[in-house]
Amino acid sequence: MTQAKPSVVIVGRPNVGKSTLFNRLVGQRRSIVTDEPGITRDRIYGTANWRGRTFEVVDTGGLLPDEKAAIPREVLRQARMAIEAAAQLVLVTDARAGITPLDAELARLLRKTGKPLAIAANKVDTTRQEPLAAAFYELSDAVFPVSAEHGLGVDDLLDHITRDFGREAEEEAAAAEPLVNVAIIGRPNVGKSTLLNRLAGAERAIVAPEPGTTRDAVDMLVHRGEHSYRFIDTAGIRRKGKTKLVAEKLSVVMARKHLERADVALLVVDASEGVTSGDANIAGYAEKSGRSVILVLNKWDLALQLAAKKDKEKSNPRRLLADYEELVRARFKFLDYAPVVFVSALTGERTDKLFGLIDRVAEARRRRISTGELNRWLSDVDLDRGTSPAARKVKIYYVTQASSSPPMFVLFTNQAHRLHFSYERFLENQLRERFDFLGTPVRFVQRVKKREPRRRSLNGSPARRR
Ligand code: GDP
Ligand code: GDP
Repeated sequence: MTQAKPSVVIVGRPNVGKSTLFNRLVGQRRSIVTDEPGITRDRIYGTANWRGRTFEVVDTGGLLPDEKAAIPREVLRQARMAIEAAAQLVLVTDARAGITPLDAELARLLRKTGKPLAIAANKVDTTRQEPLAAAFYELSDAVFPVSAEHGLGVDDLLDHITRDFGREAEEEAAAAEPLVNVAIIGRPNVGKSTLLNRLAGAERAIVAPEPGTTRDAVDMLVHRGEHSYRFIDTAGIRRKGKTKLVAEKLSVVMARKHLERADVALLVVDASEGVTSGDANIAGYAEKSGRSVILVLNKWDLALQLAAKKDKEKSNPRRLLADYEELVRARFKFLDYAPVVFVSALTGERTDKLFGLIDRVAEARRRRISTGELNRWLSDVDLDRGTSPAARKVKIYYVTQASSSPPMFVLFTNQAHRLHFSYERFLENQLRERFDFLGTPVRFVQRVKKREPRRRSLNGSPARRR
């Protein structure tokens, strides 16, 4: 028995990226229906599937010519049938442009339908631009920074809009264990390919080369117990430059490329050499990318040998480990959320631990904390501790998690004045203490929340929030 598929209706003013988003959701699964002359229905109706949930997607932008699409009421009139049948509405906006009067009017009209409304704040092409999306909380409680063009943030949007859709039973199990995309990055000769071989060749691992999108990018799938990992561009990991300088430069280029597709990066450092400026350079890119990071100090066997040679009497592996960790922490201050592991890819010492760690880090990255839990946490935080009275002039009313991968939190405050850096730092530490978030960067954005009810917001529509 087949049931009618739930439908997701995409609305928005011209040029915000509706059809780009539509194409991303629907991929090749466009249904071609030609029963209505005059409109090319194949452009606007499609079927999508997300984690075992199948649904219909309608791009209302395909319904009417551009000049009409600039008149909100016209959009709603033309799209009425689609909207009436919708299980979920998605208003696409251009995050870089901010809220335009047209966006505000469309949001107002859509809210009136009483249907669940999510905002896809589009053209957020890097995680750094995510805070741009926060402005749209003015229009809805569900705001998702996305890049329809590059795919960033689309997972979160899909998780949200399909949350109440039924799932086909056989896909349920598969969807429960998402694949983790892992990039192995680092300077030449630190042991990246040795580590890859070790991880791929680990007991109980089934290795299957997976053809990538380009001919020279070969991903490798590793299934281990209930978990699956995709090691990104294994051909690239093995690629060796001709000269030292070329190899060094290439390793940076590859790191940046691999980070783009990764959830978790294993940043490999040669422990026998210590931390070099080349390592720090790559680490900087890893941090900027917003990916989760695990610091892998490799060649620990060699580091121990060298230490023993230097100082026969006093060399003590435990002591060396502690000293080393301190050194690494000092050099990679900006990656203080990243766990550090000491391994030997050559002997296999402790490499097995990496899988468990990748799982933990990947889970933390995807984690969503409910608004209720977050605000219970906020009320428990002793804000007088670690912050100055001046810093506390900015009052935090409440907090909500806007997105995951990496987690971003919106702080609703009494004034636009940015929280003092040390205050934000304190909050982050407190948040990590309660909710872990191992290995993942955590971002905060601020929104002004006027306490008084019925207060008019900037664009003239009443501020509509809890
Ligand atoms: P529509 O009129 O709302 O259907 O918008 P389109 O999907 O045709 O996109 C309008 C323009 O925005 C096109 O030039 C797209 O390439 C561009 N665009 C769409 N999505 C993104 C995005 O995520 N990032 C950037 N930078 N541009 C985008
Ligand atoms: P890549 O350029 O980062 O991929 O580095 P490779 O995996 O090719 O390793 C460079 C060299 O370091 C090779 O000679 C490896 O055998 C060696 N190597 C890799 N891992 C270890 C390790 O854990 N201990 C020791 N002693 N040597 C290692």
